[in-house]
Amino acid sequence: MLLTISTTYTPATELGYLLHKNPAKSQAFELSFGRAHMFYPEVSEQKCTAALLLEVDPVGMVRGQRRFRDGLLDQYVNDRPFVASSFLSVAIAKVLGTALGGRCKDRPELVKKPLPLTAKISVLPCRKGESFLEDIFEPLGYTVKAKQHPLDENFPEWGESPYYTVELSQDITLSSLLTHLYVLVPVFDHHKHYYVGRAEMENLLAKGTGWLATHPQREAITYRFLKHAPSFARQALAQLAQDQEPAADDADETAVTPEDELETPLRLNDQRLGAVLAGLKAGGAQRVLDLGCGDGKLLRLLMKEKQFTQIFGMDVSIRSLEVAQDKLRLDRLPRHQQDRVRLLHGSLMYRDKRLEGFDAAAVVEVIEHLDPPRLKAFERVLFEFARPNTIVLTTPNREYNVLFANLKEEALRHGDHRFEWTRAEFQAWAESMANSYGYAVRFLPVGSEDAAYGAPTQMAIFSLLNSGEN
Ligand code: SAH
Repeated sequence: MLLTISTTYTPATELGYLLHKNPAKSQAFELSFGRAHMFYPEVSEQKCTAALLLEVDPVGMVRGQRRFRDGLLDQYVNDRPFVASSFLSVAIAKVLGTALGGRCKDRPELVKKPLPLTAKISVLPCRKGESFLEDIFEPLGYTVKAKQHPLDENFPEWGESPYYTVELSQDITLSSLLTHLYVLVPVFDHHKHYYVGRAEMENLLAKGTGWLATHPQREAITYRFLKHAPSFARQALAQLAQDQEPAADDADETAVTPEDELETPLRLNDQRLGAVLAGLKAGGAQRVLDLGCGDGKLLRLLMKEKQFTQIFGMDVSIRSLEVAQDKLRLDRLPRHQQDRVRLLHGSLMYRDKRLEGFDAAAVVEVIEHLDPPRLKAFERVLFEFARPNTIVLTTPNREYNVLFANLKEEALRHGDHRFEWTRAEFQAWAESMANSYGYAVRFLPVGSEDAAYGAPTQMAIFSLLNSGEN
């Protein structure tokens, strides 16, 4: 397994100082799973390349310590010697620890300086395909070049292997590059050769400082980095969410979000949930969905109603689902109740069979969080595929915003809102949904109504026409 790091910074030989490894020397380091070699295949003022070569001893691992045993590693013939995996992270930490930590006595000014760097990983397993490589590295600013390798060049009909040669380039500090490799290389691999526990979670949070919390793939990264330890992954994600600015979708009940602050005098949230509950009950629904359930306030109300025999909450935010799980004490419910209430992780942007066959769905203060270009996808997921008999949907009434004393002109009620509709806009949208998908729709104001601007929340109740046929 080979990792090279090149720079075209001039003089490029400064790389040797930053890595604390002399370009003129080749060095070897004994590690618990084999040996690491450090050398420079290319050294000039214009370009310098450092190589970290790992010799992983698969036979020694199988014969040796039990702790290396897991699935693949029980066999003498495995891919460990040539793929980049958690072994590489360990080698980076052991052999290049000072550079990883961003320390360099000789060149302190270069440590913080973004340099033109390219890392090349000779073989990285990526069973999810090239787009996953891009999803992981591009948000961090890398230009990604990937070359997939065939399973066997002599038998092209066998097709492609899951192995890629990957090149990552950008102007970045060496310690950030090494940190990204340390965390992200094992994310692509199925195996981790050591025990994953609390220390590893803390390690991830420390190494992820400043970039992981805002990475769009933070959930995938966290779950994959902390393999075999989903409870630590959940804790890590909770911690990451806390490190960020509170957003509506992951604020807990006690945290005051701007939206809450604005709306408190009205107790608007309670009125809204009361109105939604009434809408769901009136339709006679038994099996209900709460789409974008957040931390579960509506679910709590639904659980109190015997009428509802099956209650599913769905949200894209794992953090919110965890808060809901805790608040609703779902793990402490009697058995029959446990089957009645379920939390689903999913996105309303994708067709989801789990959402089919329900009598009613609530979509409370969710659509304004969706990007307008993606609204179409959501519309089909809800009205065409999930297609419950009744849909109760709420969203802010933008006209009412002028009456919020502490809201700036033209501002939206929450930083994460992508839009807020006037009554006319909402009604036009809802009517076009009803016409396109065969529903009747009626509108109800929620909260105290102003003569000129209407009520703070607008609600639409859709009823499927000819529901017998569906
Ligand atoms: N319905 C809740 C939460 C409203 S906040 C309540 O009234 O209290 C909006 C919620 O929509 C957040 O929990 C957010 O995570 C969720 N959400 C945003 N985009 C989503 C998507 N694409 N799929 C599912 N849920 C989504």
